[in-house]
Amino acid sequence: LLTRLKDPTLLRSEAYINGQWHAATRCFEVIDPGTGTAIAQVANLGDAETRLAIDAAEAAFPAWRAQTARTRDTLLRRWYDLIQANKEDLATLITAEGGKTYTESLGEVAYAASFVEWFSEQARRVNGEILPSNTADKRLLITREPVGVCAAITPWNFPAAMITRKVAPALAVGCTVVVKPAEQTPLTALALAVLAARAGMPPGVFNVVTGDADAAPAIGGTLTGDARVRKLSFTGSTQVGRLLMAQSAPSLKRLSLELGGNAPFIVFEDADLDAAVDGAIASKYRNSGQVCVSANRILVQQNVMDAFADKLTAKVQALKVGHGFENNVQIGPLIDASGLAKVQSLVADAVSKGATVLTGGKPDVRGGLYFQPTVIKGVTADMRMKHEEIFGPVAPLFAFSTEAEAIRMANDTEFGLAAYFYTRDAGRIFRVSEALEYGMVGVNTGLMSSEVAPFGGVKQSGYGREGSQHGVDEYLSTKYTCLAIE
Ligand code: ADP
Repeated sequence: LLTRLKDPTLLRSEAYINGQWHAATRCFEVIDPGTGTAIAQVANLGDAETRLAIDAAEAAFPAWRAQTARTRDTLLRRWYDLIQANKEDLATLITAEGGKTYTESLGEVAYAASFVEWFSEQARRVNGEILPSNTADKRLLITREPVGVCAAITPWNFPAAMITRKVAPALAVGCTVVVKPAEQTPLTALALAVLAARAGMPPGVFNVVTGDADAAPAIGGTLTGDARVRKLSFTGSTQVGRLLMAQSAPSLKRLSLELGGNAPFIVFEDADLDAAVDGAIASKYRNSGQVCVSANRILVQQNVMDAFADKLTAKVQALKVGHGFENNVQIGPLIDASGLAKVQSLVADAVSKGATVLTGGKPDVRGGLYFQPTVIKGVTADMRMKHEEIFGPVAPLFAFSTEAEAIRMANDTEFGLAAYFYTRDAGRIFRVSEALEYGMVGVNTGLMSSEVAPFGGVKQSGYGREGSQHGVDEYLSTKYTCLAIE
């Protein structure tokens, strides 16, 4: 890995607390999912070090919030410039520890950087209000203040972007942050900390506490149990989100939860089928399907099912499987053995209940954690794929006959993150997008994430919005000042 990096000093194995690199007596291995080999040993921290990071963030908060927005904007802009200048190395780390193809990793770095740039700009647009008073002798003011020390717990599937999407708005408005990256992908988080330090971020403002899967409950317990942490932003599974919410109840922490999805991707009979196939491939097979907004259920109107299935299958058969560093690869490995086992068991369940595999359906001949890009037809509501997140390169096709049935099927899930549909009927565009119980709806597109748009869900996909002009709201509280004058 070191030999692939232009700047080997971006590879760190210690945690980053209070502006210092914090070694540990115990370490854990970071694995390249594409080869199964260990690529680094990283500090395995727990409760005591997490407390140190909270101490540092608490100590740094008064001076950081007192900086002008302009100063914070300038530091974030420098961090953005450094991320851009080191994009190849960051992409190398993402591919090495997360398995996604190098091309996609470069795309993630650009996406991650876009949040830093966007929120550096938003730092200077946190305005207050003066209200028309209810009495002549009072003046009523609204100001917006940083909530304080924030914690961010992030997943492995976007090891850079899930950090910047939380940390950049927090820092922009004057909060300080303790990040716990996923155990699979600490190296990207630490490289981001190297660059933040280089940008001149003061000690304690941005801290990274690393730990393995066994350490996560202790680190999470300390972050949620400490009343000095005023806010937690979490992206990950619904199950862990519920746990963190319960743990945050005693100190009434503010929460942003971006949890699981079960995205429907609806293809109506009047859709441009070629465009729908391309959209489905972009949505489904990106990061080998390991994306919370990936199409999880492809709902196709009965009379275009065969045509759509044929076109999709032909394109999926052409996808190239391989290690993320190989040329022209489109499908990398799954993240770990449990991810692979889940995909296999979901496919086996569907097939045992009567679904038909049109292509793929098995672990790839390369072995390891690679699974063939797969299309399955005849999937029905009694199969596990209807309600479980696949998180793999498997596209299940469900048939429907009417628009009302499609809407009912699409909403028949506890989740409500992203939904997509393809149609050329203007009336249908409004009817269906309004009827979908989702936080985000893509119409005639399979890709919609952007720093300028609000990302987030409804129902058990969580709440809170990241990105857009609303992204800073999560890190601000509203203060009302009532001023009596003579
Ligand atoms: P995924 O299925 O994507 O791995 P998880 O919800 O298990 O989703 O993990 C997302 C993040 O939550 C990771 O950083 C992981 O270490 C962390 N995590 C898992 N369990 C806990 C826990 N009990 N307390 C705090 N963080 C946790």
